[in-house]
Amino acid sequence: MVALYELVLYDGLTCMNARDSRSDAIISDNMVNKAPMSPFNVEEFRQSAHQMVEFLADYYRDIESYPVRSQVEPGYLYKQIPDTAPESPETLDEVFSDVKSKILPGITHWLSPQFHAYYPASFSTAGYLGEMLCGGLNVNGFSWIASPAATELEVIVVEWLGKLLNLPKEFLSSGGGGGIIEGTACEAVFVCILAARKRFVDKYTAEGLLEGEVHSKLVAYTSDQTHSCVAKACKMAGVQGDNLRILPTDASTDFALSPAVLLQAIENDIAAGFIPFFVCGTVGTTSSSAVDPLHAIGDLAKSFGMWFHIDAAYAGSACICPEFRPFLDGVEKADSFCLNPHKWLLINFDSSCLWVKDPKALESALSTDPEYLKNKHSDEKNVIDFRNLQLPLSRRFRAVKLWMVMRMYGASGLRTHIRNGVRMAKHFESLVKANRHFEIVTPRNFALVCFRVKPQANDPDNGKTINQKLMDTINANGTVFFTHTVMGGVYTLRMAIGATMTQPIHVTDTWAIITTEANRLLGLDSEMCFNSDSGAEMCSSSDNESVDSDCESTPVLNLSDSEEQPLGAGALAAAMRPLVALSASNSFQERTECIAVA
Ligand code: PLP
Repeated sequence: MVALYELVLYDGLTCMNARDSRSDAIISDNMVNKAPMSPFNVEEFRQSAHQMVEFLADYYRDIESYPVRSQVEPGYLYKQIPDTAPESPETLDEVFSDVKSKILPGITHWLSPQFHAYYPASFSTAGYLGEMLCGGLNVNGFSWIASPAATELEVIVVEWLGKLLNLPKEFLSSGGGGGIIEGTACEAVFVCILAARKRFVDKYTAEGLLEGEVHSKLVAYTSDQTHSCVAKACKMAGVQGDNLRILPTDASTDFALSPAVLLQAIENDIAAGFIPFFVCGTVGTTSSSAVDPLHAIGDLAKSFGMWFHIDAAYAGSACICPEFRPFLDGVEKADSFCLNPHKWLLINFDSSCLWVKDPKALESALSTDPEYLKNKHSDEKNVIDFRNLQLPLSRRFRAVKLWMVMRMYGASGLRTHIRNGVRMAKHFESLVKANRHFEIVTPRNFALVCFRVKPQANDPDNGKTINQKLMDTINANGTVFFTHTVMGGVYTLRMAIGATMTQPIHVTDTWAIITTEANRLLGLDSEMCFNSDSGAEMCSSSDNESVDSDCESTPVLNLSDSEEQPLGAGALAAAMRPLVALSASNSFQERTECIAVA
């Protein structure tokens, strides 16, 4: 059968039909009897996109009516969605209906003001608008020529952020360094390890070693608190066997890497014929927000010629505030520095900024030069082609999100957002400290509070069971979501405060939920509301007011309901709070009464 193709006008759309040349029958007739296949139509886009915005606005408004952590069981969706794709097009309304009934139950609501797990996902109106623009323009700016604005805006905004962080000029493009927006901190550290490896392979092969020999001798150093992204990057980079030295930390350094331990490990390795090539320090570890001693690590890195990477994925954002900037002291001794604006800077996922002093080191490890990408400007080397500083070829226009957020909130708004998160965390910490049944496990540096129910004397598992039960019960009822870690063998609860919609009242609510449940688990008198040594100041309304008044009111995290705040969610969130509370094991009314007793 020979197919002839013909263009037909159908419902105002040009469509292509296939006809059998002999019988004249239409072979491919999906345009005739059904809705025309129309991947893009401006008016349909306008209408559908409005529908999507309406849907999302309702979702944000009602977010507290959903259980924060999804309550479904594994495999729930496989039973509800067909196992083959539909043959015929379906409508947006049909899809929305499934989103509501089938997808939302399986969503863990990262934007909920009661999401305190892991590190929260950052979010804002400007961040979302930036994400819309990024997706809407859908450019692929792998080379300058592929979309000059994408490349140049990225250079500009990463420079803006570098200046806000007061990074040494060597990291700025104006000072010979450079920044790039990667998708995640994992990708950022991986490209740095590849650059470091290349530097060492070049050096030692020039001295006569074989490449494989160099690879087998390269050793990297992290602490046992370093994010697993470094271990993964080492695996991918072929850092062989146990040539990643994961150095122990303990409570004596608040779980920061000890320079003495690092030095000892380096000396042992050199004595055994290894080549130390890479060390990672962290500002704000994942478990507890510990901060490694950057100056001391930087000095050791310099003495032994290693690449020094700083992972500040979470806490780096805080360092735009002068009071937190000292945590970055020593960054001047690093080769690379990374922070994730999508963790705390009101940027929607994904956005991970990486600064390097020597962008050519990345290029040397990663660049390729296929014919089909050649162009005058790249050949003349008068532009940056970001594809040569990252793993994939393709890249999103992520800079536009950062640009919009920085413009629409300003540095002052971003600082206020950080400070509000920290103030709420401080308040939560003070509530924990004031309660004789709880304790702080490690000092709070930013907006993460590590705490636990104190173990009873002679508790065989040192408090693990009660703390785990406490967390599991609360997370299972969906009112709030927080997670745990283990440090130095101590099972520790983590309250990561700073989600965009979180208000002081959510923090006091969470504390009431935690103490009420702990009270129940310990068999204490619930009427006492788990009060503190000093009486019952734990969750009183005056506490609540004092946090409120302590927080600056800003266009970014307005505690009043105004159209200028990131989501306009303040009053709405407060209005929705009772809905959430009713789904808790203890009703909202019970908890309010409990608060009143306190
Ligand atoms: N580094 C730290 C300190 C983190 O806390 C995290 C994630 O929480 C990461 C790296 C990984 O970040 P990403 O998911 O962007 O790779």
